[in-house]
Amino acid sequence: MERILVVEDDPQLAHLVTAALQHEGYTILLAISGLDAVEMAPQADLMVLDLGLPGLGGPEVIRELREADWNLPILVLSAQGTEEIRVRALELGADDYLTKPMSVREMVARVRALLRRSRPTQEIRIGDLRILLKQRQAFRAQQPLDLSPTELDLLLTLAQNPGEVWSRERLLQRVWGAERGSTVDERVVDSYVALLRRKLGDDPKTPRYIETVFGQGYRFVQHT
Ligand code: CA
Repeated sequence: MERILVVEDDPQLAHLVTAALQHEGYTILLAISGLDAVEMAPQADLMVLDLGLPGLGGPEVIRELREADWNLPILVLSAQGTEEIRVRALELGADDYLTKPMSVREMVARVRALLRRSRPTQEIRIGDLRILLKQRQAFRAQQPLDLSPTELDLLLTLAQNPGEVWSRERLLQRVWGAERGSTVDERVVDSYVALLRRKLGDDPKTPRYIETVFGQGYRFVQHT
C-alpha cells in the first residue's frame, strides 16, 4: 500500500489527518517540521503538506524537493486568507491544495485522485517484463520471477521511471529508507543490482533492463 507523508505541526490536526488516511489503509509517516519533511520525502509516495510550518516553511519544502528532483505528488493544506502563499506553493510544484478547515473526506478523495494520477496503471509492461503492482509480482516472458521484497522495490523504482538516472544515494533513500547523508555503504546497491540482473537474465554489458551510468548510478533502459 502507498506510503503517505503527513507534514503538520498542529498535533490535533495531524491526528485527524493521519487517522483518516490510516483508515483508508495507507501507511503513514508523520513529520512535524519542514526539515523532517525533506528528509523523509524519499520514503513516501505522496505528501500532505501544511504550509504554515515553523522554521523551513511549506513553500521552501516544495522548492527543495523539486530541486532535488523528487516528484512525489504534494497536496497542500493552507490556512484561509493566504492566497498569495498558496499560489506560490502551486507555482513551486504543489499538485493540489485544500483550505483549512477542510473536510477530511474531501482530503482523502483528493489523496486518492492524486495517487491514481501518478500511478495510472496497476501494472507495468516493459518489453517482455511485466510487474503487477498490487500483487507485487514480476514476470519475465510469462514466467514468475522469484524476487525478494528489496529486489522488487529496486526493480519497481527503476522500472517506473525508465530513462531516469538514479544515484546510489537516491536509491538508498528510496528503497532502503536511508536518511540523507547517511553512512550506509553504497555498495549495497551494487550488490542488489547484480542480484536483480541475474534474476532478470540481464547482461550488464548489453543491458536490456538495467543500465549502469558510469559515475552516476543506474537507470532502466527506455524501450520504445
Ligand atoms: Ca501549521
